[in-house]
Amino acid sequence: MKIVVCVKQVPDTNEVKIDPVKGTLIRDGVPSILNPDDQHAVEEALRIKDSNPEAHVTVITMGPPQAKEVLLECLAMGADRAILVSDRAFAGADTWATSETLAGAIRRLDGYDVIFCGRQAIDGDTAQVGPQIAERLQIPQVTYVEGFEDKGSNFVVRRQLEDGYEMVQVQKPALFTAIQELNEPRYASIPGIVTACREKEVEVFNVDDIEVDRKQIGLEGSPTQVKRSFTPEAKGKGVMLKGSSKEMAEQLIVNLKKKHLI
Ligand SMILES: Cc1cc2nc3c(=O)[nH]c(=O)nc-3n(C[C@H](O)[C@H](O)[C@H](O)COP(=O)(O)OP(=O)(O)OC[C@H]3O[C@@H](n4cnc5c(N)ncnc54)[C@H](O)[C@@H]3O)c2cc1C
Repeated sequence: MKIVVCVKQVPDTNEVKIDPVKGTLIRDGVPSILNPDDQHAVEEALRIKDSNPEAHVTVITMGPPQAKEVLLECLAMGADRAILVSDRAFAGADTWATSETLAGAIRRLDGYDVIFCGRQAIDGDTAQVGPQIAERLQIPQVTYVEGFEDKGSNFVVRRQLEDGYEMVQVQKPALFTAIQELNEPRYASIPGIVTACREKEVEVFNVDDIEVDRKQIGLEGSPTQVKRSFTPEAKGKGVMLKGSSKEMAEQLIVNLKKKHLI
């Protein structure tokens, strides 16, 4: 089974700050991490490989040269192949251009049975890239996947809903976006880290190495325009009421009266 996982290097958002004047992200000195949902995507691919040694896991990221770090992390976890899609031509890409670029890189692979993405990146936060890749490759997709089974000729997945779940049977090849309920990601082992650093290498695809419509990549191919970025005002601290329903209702009335709201 040929498995592809799309991963993104993101700033550790606990520490992200926005420049109050320019409205842009302050990235200097902010540590980068493998996007949390993508850790679950990689783990699911590795679990397939654990039960089927013939399986082959390729991890792909589009980003600047330093995005190689997350690929090395995935190799250390157990991925077989890592591809950094990087070229000045991709700079300024919105989700539309990012998905075209990633789909272009995937088209250059020697086929695939399943593609995993994270549901959402914690910086861009749109949850658009996975579904857009599937659309561009014209394959079925299921988002919010919290359970995955390979049934041979098809996949059966459990998709999280707001008030429950649904079971979906999907033909191969297909793309799934992973959420944290899907699994518990493994840590890279010490031998895994040593092998990744000494024996495995990250391949780099530039714009000439992928199959894309050049009008749909980079800044030129990005229809999104960001009007304004800002830090939302901090909300007041919430108050937790304790006791029986009656006691809590009474406390609530007292609190609202104190604030002259009733
Ligand atoms: C006008 C504009 C210009 C921009 N310019 C830049 C820029 O110059 N540099 C820059 O870094 N960002 C830029 N961005 C942000 C960039 O568009 C998004 O970060 C990117 O398209 C992914 O969207 P997202 O973060 O919402 O991911 P989501 O759609 O939330 O991500 C879902 C999943 O898709 C996969 N995925 C997402 N992005 C990647 C990726 N790059 N590689 C592999 N897998 C991925 C992951 O599995 C991820 O979990 C720009 C955005 C806009 C609107």
